[in-house]
Amino acid sequence: MSGIPEKIIDFHVHLFPDRLFDAIWEAFLKQYNWHIIHRCYYRECIERLRRKGVSVIVYSNYAHRAGIAEELNRWNEKVLQEYEDLYCFAAYHPGDDHALDMARRLVENPKILGFKLQLLVQNFYPFDERLFGLYDLVMKKNKRILFHTGTGPVGNPYVGLEPFMKVLDRFPDLPATIAHLGAHEYAGFMELVDRHPQLYLDTAFCFLPAPYDGYNLGPGYLEKYKSRILYGSDYPNLITPWEAEIENLLKMNLSPEFYDRIFYDNAAALIRSLTAQGETGESGLTSG
Ligand SMILES: [Zn+2]
Repeated sequence: MSGIPEKIIDFHVHLFPDRLFDAIWEAFLKQYNWHIIHRCYYRECIERLRRKGVSVIVYSNYAHRAGIAEELNRWNEKVLQEYEDLYCFAAYHPGDDHALDMARRLVENPKILGFKLQLLVQNFYPFDERLFGLYDLVMKKNKRILFHTGTGPVGNPYVGLEPFMKVLDRFPDLPATIAHLGAHEYAGFMELVDRHPQLYLDTAFCFLPAPYDGYNLGPGYLEKYKSRILYGSDYPNLITPWEAEIENLLKMNLSPEFYDRIFYDNAAALIRSLTAQGETGESGLTSG
C-alpha cells in the first residue's frame, strides 16, 4: 500500500482549552524533553486534520486533578456543537463531589462516546471502587472508557497490565479502548481481546520513526487482531511529523484489509454502534 489512505478516522486526538494546552506542552518538555511540533489550539487542530483527509475526529481530554472536570466538559459540549463529525471522550475525576451526576448528564449527548481515564497523569487505579459507578453507567448507556493504562512512555503504580486485569476480573464486559496498543506490554494487552469482546486498542504513538521505540511484535499480532485496532494519532501532541507514523505502518506491508479496517472501517462501525445511527446517519459515516 502506498500513500496516505484516502479515508481516515482518527480515534485518538486531544483537544483542550488553550490555557491547558500551553500547560501540557510545557509539562511534556519538562518531563520527557518532548518538543511538541504542532502547537495548535483546537480549531486549528481540527482544520489541519481535515485538510489531511481525516473525516471523523474522536478526541479526548482528562482532568489532571479533581475540581476541573465540570468546566472541561462544559467546554467539550460547546466544541462538539461547533463541528460535525467530531466526537469526544469526556473528562472524569473520581475525586469530584458530583462526578457521577455529571457523567449521567453527559452520556445523554450522542457525540460523547464515553470518558477518558489517564491513569499515568490522574494517579488512581483502574479498579478504584470510586470508578465502579462510572463503569456501570457506561455499560448501561452503551458508552466506552478510553484508558491510558500502559507503561509507556513511563510507568507508575497505577498503569500496566496487572492493575488493568483486575478491572476485567470484576467487569469482564467493560467496553474499553486501550490507548497505545497497551505499550510497552503489547502482547499481554492485545491478547486480552481474545477473552473480552468489548475491548479495542488504538495505535497512537506506537509507530514512530527511529530513534523512537515502539510496537515490536511484528505483523502477526497486528493481522490477528485487526478487527479490534483503531488508528489514532495523538494529534496535536506529536514529536514527529503526523505522516511519519502512517508511513511506518504502511511500510510494514500488511494486508489491504488490515489498513482498511484500522484507518476507517472499525472506527466507523464502532461509532455507528455507539450512536445508533443508520447506515447513512448525520455523520456521513459509510460502511465498507
Ligand atoms: Zn493521547
